[in-house]
Amino acid sequence: MRYISTRGNAPVLNFEEAMLTGLARDGGLYVPESIPQMSAGDIKALRGLSYEEIAFRVMRPFIGDTFTDAEFREIIAKAYAGFGHDARAPLVQLDSNHYLLELFHGPTLAFKDFAMQLIGQLFQAALGRSGERVTIVGATSGDTGSAAIEAFKGLDAVDVFILYPHGRVSEVQRRQMTTPSESNVHALAVDGHFDDCQARLKDMFNDFEFRDGVRLAGVNSINWARVLAQVVYYFSSAVSLGAPDRKVSFTVPTGNFGDIFAGFIAKKMGLPIDRLVVATNQNDILHRCLSTGAYQTSQVHPSISPSMDIQVSSNFERALFYAYGKDGKAVAQLMAELKEGGFSVSQGALQALREHFDSGRLSEEETSAAIADMQARTGEILCPHSAIAAKVGDQHQDGATPMISLATAHPAKFPDAVEAATAIRPGLPKRMADLYDRSERVTQVANDLTALEALIQKRIAR
Ligand SMILES: *Cc1c(COP(=O)(O)O)cnc(C)c1O
Repeated sequence: MRYISTRGNAPVLNFEEAMLTGLARDGGLYVPESIPQMSAGDIKALRGLSYEEIAFRVMRPFIGDTFTDAEFREIIAKAYAGFGHDARAPLVQLDSNHYLLELFHGPTLAFKDFAMQLIGQLFQAALGRSGERVTIVGATSGDTGSAAIEAFKGLDAVDVFILYPHGRVSEVQRRQMTTPSESNVHALAVDGHFDDCQARLKDMFNDFEFRDGVRLAGVNSINWARVLAQVVYYFSSAVSLGAPDRKVSFTVPTGNFGDIFAGFIAKKMGLPIDRLVVATNQNDILHRCLSTGAYQTSQVHPSISPSMDIQVSSNFERALFYAYGKDGKAVAQLMAELKEGGFSVSQGALQALREHFDSGRLSEEETSAAIADMQARTGEILCPHSAIAAKVGDQHQDGATPMISLATAHPAKFPDAVEAATAIRPGLPKRMADLYDRSERVTQVANDLTALEALIQKRIAR
């Protein structure tokens, strides 16, 4: 299996290289050269299997010869052993044809654990073999950072630096990043927005001297291995509702477009998915783009669903790559225009996107109302991101096709918003009840590339 860049001008890599590299050297993102197919028979055979076995069968064709079957099985087993639910990704029924896919039973209570726990084990296995050491730098709007720190803490082949926007993550998110005591993990509070963190991260990857000097590796949602890990639960949930004999649709609370893009890959592999519905908060660049074709950045407005407070949606580039018929030059051109503020998707490409994707958007008031409404109608207490998905999912039901809305975080990660909407303060699961008592360790830094690079170099030289 070979991986190519969405901008068509970077080395072709195998799975291991694409995983360790993250961002391609031409600024693009890696995608598989061709997408492996699962037949109806292959999909039917997934029925009744454990989450881990489904994960093995779905991901195996993408791994190439990076790992043996036995090694890959062990990696998967370790990745999901720390989850607080045997089903890993259980499905809950909301109404007659609407289901909630609970993706928040991992160690940091958000769906990012599905990918990050796997990536931690993949990196450990690959680096352990070669004896190399890498520096992982990630940017986070909250959940990626905690998931990365949880997945990589204590591993001796990696140092992890997480950039998060100072004062713009929830207390639980912050504490999950700042309380681990292992010396190889570093939480950095950047004076800026998430988009600033993400931009500085991209700058580091484009500074080849720094990149090669510290052996920079990326685990942000642009990393192909993360997308791949997320493909699995589209299969496990669809199969439990009757796929491949019955189509299903998904509604996905979307920021960086990684999670929903995994659904697109599942569909391209052969899973019968009808609609993939993008659900956004008031930071609605994706909803506007799918509605009008104009991908125009504006200011980020902080919301009660902070993990979707994004204006530059990095994985959308992958969707554009396919919508433009895998034309890397066209994608590179759009991304150059984006630097100047935005671009227009061509009619043909917009049509190609709309073949798969619908979209919806909720304001802050509508999000609070959705949390309250879900609690009143079903008893489910949802985090703001999950509530946005459930409401937009409701709006896109067609009466026949089962709708699966993704619940991406545990309500206890966003207790203030949930309490304001329902008057119920959701508690942390028992296994992490002492989070508020642990001491924190964090460094505040300016939104400045030179300062960040100097800090990282100093820390890894210790
Ligand atoms: C990251 C995140 C999202 C958005 O996922 P993307 O892959 O960036 O689209 C939604 N909800 C929660 C809780 C998240 O942590």
